[in-house]
Amino acid sequence: MATAVFFHAHPDDEAIATSGTMMLAKAAGHRVVLVLATAGEQGEPVEGVLDEGELLGDRRRAETQRSADIIGVDRLEFLGYEDSGMIDTETNANPTCFWQADVEEAANRFAEILRSESADVLTVYDSNGGYGHPDHIQVHRVGIRAAEMAGVAKVFESTMNRTSILDNMEAVLEALAATADSEEAVAELQERRNEMEAGTFGMDQADLTHEIDVSSMIEAKREAMLAHQSQIGEDSFFLTMAPEVFAQTFGSEWFRDRSWVRGDQPFRTDLFAES
Ligand SMILES: [Zn+2]
Repeated sequence: MATAVFFHAHPDDEAIATSGTMMLAKAAGHRVVLVLATAGEQGEPVEGVLDEGELLGDRRRAETQRSADIIGVDRLEFLGYEDSGMIDTETNANPTCFWQADVEEAANRFAEILRSESADVLTVYDSNGGYGHPDHIQVHRVGIRAAEMAGVAKVFESTMNRTSILDNMEAVLEALAATADSEEAVAELQERRNEMEAGTFGMDQADLTHEIDVSSMIEAKREAMLAHQSQIGEDSFFLTMAPEVFAQTFGSEWFRDRSWVRGDQPFRTDLFAES
């Protein structure tokens, strides 16, 4: 049995990015620890979801507990920083936000948890935080530094597979172009794809090392995502997605092993396997 610590920026990141991997780890007998840097205070609540006077951070802590229960998390911790909000927003300057935290200080705080767990495996984000959110970038910086301090042997970067996402969009575009009665819809999706291709999100498939097939956990993964009720309204695309589209979109979780270059070898499929 090993102990794995999954480090995330905000409530719901754990459900979307790594909950399938966490559930598989739990099912295999490993200890699963979830640490969140912030309580997601800058998220946009679904209209009418908060009670009078209820703080979003409080609600999101409770939602995270529900998600953690579904996943089977053995220990849930919050580092206690505040959500920095999207890049280039005023809240980035909040002195108590995670983005403004001193990396050494935050890493010390986090390393204490890693040491107390004798963590064998840690997941963080890639150096761009997947899509450039300041708190996600900070998870990378603080997580890597804390792993050094605590001597964690295996560190993985959780990210998106940009190659497969762009390929999928291309396939959808081709199908749409052949059948659609609306040129507008095609143009819209094409523009979206062009934007994504030009932007920096995720990592190229060639740089990834691990594809975790979480299709056996897909129902529970959906439940964990839906536990974050304040973020996912009834008309959210998560809820309206057809089951097979959901399974295709969320059925694989991608990682880069920081201590292994894959080259042209196949993807590894288990974060806990001895290499
Ligand atoms: Zn986030």
